[in-house]
Amino acid sequence: MHEFSMVNQIFRKCLEVAKQNNATKISEINLEVGDFALIVEIYAQQAFDTLKKGTIADKAKLIIKRTPGVLHCNSCQQKSEIWFSKEKEKAAVEGRLEEYEKYEKEVAEKTLLKADPNLGTNIFHCRKCDSSNTTLIEGKGITIRNLRT
Ligand SMILES: [Zn+2]
Repeated sequence: MHEFSMVNQIFRKCLEVAKQNNATKISEINLEVGDFALIVEIYAQQAFDTLKKGTIADKAKLIIKRTPGVLHCNSCQQKSEIWFSKEKEKAAVEGRLEEYEKYEKEVAEKTLLKADPNLGTNIFHCRKCDSSNTTLIEGKGITIRNLRT
């Protein structure tokens, strides 16, 4: 489950930041998670609940805001906002579902904190001209937006 290692890294970082600021508790952690990092929120929440026990974040809430991917087309220069599940539905209709399943598998095996641009093979087609010569310029990253103490 890649959610656990993601939340673990985020959580360590938050504890570090709190310590540097002499905070005695954390009450809320706000994250922005790119849709293409394929984080399942319920697993992330479960991991968080396990990790926070007995720490200064014992009563903290984890708030996750999902952000869309931004796909740049190298053929027609179009930029489109896309969501993984919608692209997957479209791909199923076009008979490209296997590529999506492979992407999910690849992503699940990687660590996501650095918004690795190589995370999963790029399989996404341009919304305008259907070219496969595209780059996902946003949507794989995980950012700590703020930390409430
Ligand atoms: Zn295009």
